[in-house]
Amino acid sequence: MQLSGKDKFDSVRVKMVDQKPTLQSTDILVYLVPSHPSGLLGTRFGREEKADNQYGRAAWNAAETEFGAEVYVRHLTDQPWDIAKFVWHEVLHVKTKEENEMHKRGGLAGDIEFGYQGSWLTDQNIKDMAAYMGKKRPMWTGGFDLKIKTGPITLD
Ligand SMILES: [Zn+2]
Repeated sequence: MQLSGKDKFDSVRVKMVDQKPTLQSTDILVYLVPSHPSGLLGTRFGREEKADNQYGRAAWNAAETEFGAEVYVRHLTDQPWDIAKFVWHEVLHVKTKEENEMHKRGGLAGDIEFGYQGSWLTDQNIKDMAAYMGKKRPMWTGGFDLKIKTGPITLD
């Protein structure tokens, strides 16, 4: 895929932060939280809270002026690559502003909530992410203001 001008990216930087970051307009913030019940998004953005969101979710307000994403790592910590896969998946949800329809794209964009171990990045996934990389999605950073316990995630 040929990208032009300011939308062209040569690389992606992934950074772990434990304090509210100052985000660039194209940055995506994904909260890593232990599990769905301890998620930060909750019903924010007016989205229905679904019990079957086992590995992550992305949501945004109706005006599309604020976006949020989180990945539930408790069931993924024995396979760290799966955390990266779900972060990638939620980032694409935010970048494309597609909900379940994104899953039709397959690969890591597919419905990987169940059977995630068999999901891999496809050439089309790479082209899709490249096409949306430059999209500006103001991210909700309010998760850092919530009174929550921070630090290493403890497993049961
Ligand atoms: Zn999804």
